[in-house]
Amino acid sequence: MTVPKALKILDWWIAQRENVVQEFLSDCTNSEVMTTIHNSEKTIIANLKLIRGQLIPNCKHPKKMQDTCGGIKYCMDCNMDL
Ligand SMILES: [Zn+2]
Repeated sequence: MTVPKALKILDWWIAQRENVVQEFLSDCTNSEVMTTIHNSEKTIIANLKLIRGQLIPNCKHPKKMQDTCGGIKYCMDCNMDL
């Protein structure tokens, strides 16, 4: 799986979980159950966003160090896909 595909899947998953939370909050009448599930969902969403953040390139090397291999741009210094 390429990084852009992984980011697309994570974006979809995060949006889906956020929609579930919104629907749940508008439907649930039991405040104890609502709080427990809401906190659980918030943790899942935060973890998905952390994973997403790890997939985004954090290369600070100069552009002159960029090259392309198989149509994918990468940094020749740190070997990170850009
Ligand atoms: Zn780099």
